[in-house]
Amino acid sequence: MARTPLMAGNWKMNMDHLEATHLVQKVAWTLDDAGFTYGDVDVAVFAPYTDLRSIQTLCESDELRIAYGAQDVSVHDEGAYTGEISTSMLSKLGCSYVIVGHSERRAYHGESNELIGQKAQKVLGAGMIPIVCCGEELEVRKEGRHVEYVVSQIDELFAGFQAADIAKLVIAYEPIWAIGTGEVATPEDAQEVCGAIRARIEETFGADAAAAVRIQYGGSVKAANVQEIMAQPDVDGALVGGASLKAEEFAKIVMFR
Ligand code: PGA
Repeated sequence: MARTPLMAGNWKMNMDHLEATHLVQKVAWTLDDAGFTYGDVDVAVFAPYTDLRSIQTLCESDELRIAYGAQDVSVHDEGAYTGEISTSMLSKLGCSYVIVGHSERRAYHGESNELIGQKAQKVLGAGMIPIVCCGEELEVRKEGRHVEYVVSQIDELFAGFQAADIAKLVIAYEPIWAIGTGEVATPEDAQEVCGAIRARIEETFGADAAAAVRIQYGGSVKAANVQEIMAQPDVDGALVGGASLKAEEFAKIVMFR
């Protein structure tokens, strides 16, 4: 089955709403000028919550075909959860995707695989696509335990999921030692773990779910290395941090072919 690559820009805590609309516009113009064909590759940006309404207005009024989403979401539907944002709030702002379980959420907010799995279910239930992050720390990689570590994350994240749900979602493999460090995993490193994730999905949820689920690589992806990473058979896209804040660089990543 041909999987449509998803090139995603994770802006993290950067860009106020004015900067955000400029950046989205500039990415769209750059892609248009370069003759990019929407549909061959999906493109999405993940902005701070405070930017999403402005991005929605811009995308609707200018008919931009860039999808967007949030970088996290609450596991609760509504109520006394000060500071949290629900899936229905995000879907009403036109979000198509939500990142859940980014390593920065895990590290600074103590998010567990179980909670992240619950968030992914909520996102699916609201008709959006979760990008579910996983990945190992440097010590785990040095001990050579990275494949078993990530596979056990997958088991915990998706315990109790239906195969049909797995087929809809996106998994982002992001080795923590490669995030924001300039230290990119080799294409073979990315393939080794993305391949192991797909094999585990096949064992647990069957061949159709494994053929459909999109698996991204993330960690110091840039225009200069995206092509060889995307050439790997089990890599279906990239989750891009730093390099997604520059319109021209991100557009080059989107047009990796
Ligand atoms: P980076 O971040 O591209 O800046 O390494 C990736 C991420 O954290 O999603």
